[in-house]
Amino acid sequence: MLAITGLIGSGKSFVSSIVREAGFEVLDADALAHELYKKNAELRKKIAQEFGDEAITENGVNRPYISKLVFSDPQKLELLESIVYPVLQSEIEKINPVFIEAAVLYKCPELAKKMKEIWVVEASEELRKGRILGRGIEDGRVEAQGVESSELRVESCLRRIDNNGTKEECKDKVLELLAKYIPGIIRRDISLRKYTTFKIGGNAKFFAEPKDIEEIRALFAWCREFKVPYFILGKGSNVLFDDDGYGGIVIKLSKFIAGNSLHFLIQTVANQGLGGLEKLEGIPGTIGGAIFMNAGAHGQQISDCIKSVTSITENGEMMTRTKEECEFSYRSSIFKRNSELILSAEFNFIPMRQETINRNRKEVLAWRKAKQPLQYPNAGSVFKNPANNLSAGALIESCGLKGFSIGDAQVSELHANFIVNKGSATAKDVKALMEKIVQKVKEVHGVELESEIIYPPSSPAPGPSSKIQSA
Ligand SMILES: Cc1cc2nc3c(=O)[nH]c(=O)nc-3n(C[C@H](O)[C@H](O)[C@H](O)COP(=O)(O)OP(=O)(O)OC[C@H]3O[C@@H](n4cnc5c(N)ncnc54)[C@H](O)[C@@H]3O)c2cc1C
Repeated sequence: MLAITGLIGSGKSFVSSIVREAGFEVLDADALAHELYKKNAELRKKIAQEFGDEAITENGVNRPYISKLVFSDPQKLELLESIVYPVLQSEIEKINPVFIEAAVLYKCPELAKKMKEIWVVEASEELRKGRILGRGIEDGRVEAQGVESSELRVESCLRRIDNNGTKEECKDKVLELLAKYIPGIIRRDISLRKYTTFKIGGNAKFFAEPKDIEEIRALFAWCREFKVPYFILGKGSNVLFDDDGYGGIVIKLSKFIAGNSLHFLIQTVANQGLGGLEKLEGIPGTIGGAIFMNAGAHGQQISDCIKSVTSITENGEMMTRTKEECEFSYRSSIFKRNSELILSAEFNFIPMRQETINRNRKEVLAWRKAKQPLQYPNAGSVFKNPANNLSAGALIESCGLKGFSIGDAQVSELHANFIVNKGSATAKDVKALMEKIVQKVKEVHGVELESEIIYPPSSPAPGPSSKIQSA
């Protein structure tokens, strides 16, 4: 745990907001205490016993009443702290946050000792008084909390942040401290728009293109330690990133076999007279992305030729699965349900005449050119084809939705299961359009369309986000 602490008015909340903005979770001990008041009836009972029934409400504490009481009487403050802090401390230890914003460290030396590093935000008493008066709190609290930061016993891991200057100066100091927790291969605030075929999306908080397995392991270890969610990206041809971007790390696999394009694979084996996947020509994804999605077209799907797939787990273990163990089905595989990163695969191709392979490739490419709106950014078929041989595109078209737009997102006039970005479509436009399509198709045909596009959330929970699929 890393702590951000400081006396009232020092600016620790501001420092926390910079850390959050940088992509890390920060637990607010004060907010946690109020959550505890709400959910812990035993705690409320103890407070009522000492301070009277007026001190509590049905689901919390009577803040103005308690504040008035304890900030005018140091003994009462101590009494309240002796009731609340042990419960709070044990809850914090249970959660074990990466960062915690906690004034409480001054009063909990045992907790302070467990911190890897303590950032003490410091400002003059005059400045602190000014700041808290600005927040409408009586300045008596500055004196009531007048413990000097030097009283924190864990000198060895103290980092002081001088917040007597401007906000920008403070931010620079915080980012400098944070930098040592972000490995060199990680870039920050990278626009995701250019990494997707839809050309939509905000920034990734973190972004990395590992060059070997050790770098992948190190990235996963970092994600675990700092509880940073991750999303594995191929060519981004089936992904709709949020307008607010992705609040974790996007790991792009450009330097691995699985990060090669499907086209490269098809072309390479075609040159050796091997086919079986040539009808997937024109799918603009990577080998890894195609395996994850079990991409398919014109009666072929990548799983037809898979012998085995090698992946790496979030704990850094390598796994090789047979085709059966990959649990392939229509636009799905086991990798949609686990957190593994696909590294490579072995294939069983079919020996074929090169002319036949190349004729098939040419034919499907011509078909794509004629039938798909390739002149506009898009992410391929937006919805899966429903069961019973129904075509999502035909269902959408029969609802009269071809050409229907929300903002710059439009149901393609050429292929109703494609949404195209006519210029500056946002993820919000695309999602609204998808909702409209789902609703209309349900109304007219009684069929519930399911998204094929992967939609990583902008504020993901720790762990992998590849499984999340909603729109
Ligand atoms: C014009 C167009 C036509 C298309 N036509 C077809 C089609 O005919 N048939 C079809 O099936 N699809 C089609 N698609 C959709 C898309 O190209 C495929 O789903 C493709 O397989 C996605 O690969 P990708 O590398 O772009 O993956 P991305 O879009 O980058 O990612 C898709 C999912 O795969 C995961 N992923 C990617 N790489 C890995 C990895 N190495 N390890 C673990 N997870 C990974 C990602 O986390 C994400 O959840 C089309 C798309 C476009 C734009």
